[in-house]
Amino acid sequence: MKARKCDRCHEYYDPYSPTGEVEHANGLSLIEFGDTAYIHRKSYDLCPICMIRLVTFLNNPEDRKVEKR
Ligand SMILES: [Zn+2]
Repeated sequence: MKARKCDRCHEYYDPYSPTGEVEHANGLSLIEFGDTAYIHRKSYDLCPICMIRLVTFLNNPEDRKVEKR
């Protein structure tokens, strides 16, 4: 198994398998929405810890309140 390096924390980690649910993905891709399609901009490798932090951030309504201030 080939180790991967997290693009956020730069730690090496063993690849982990996604479960098929969005909350359990094993990477991040940024896109640009168009009218009929999207353009892929960049992909990120995320270790399991950074993925959990990302999903927690995206699903935490308290963080959204802070961003609007
Ligand atoms: Zn990480």
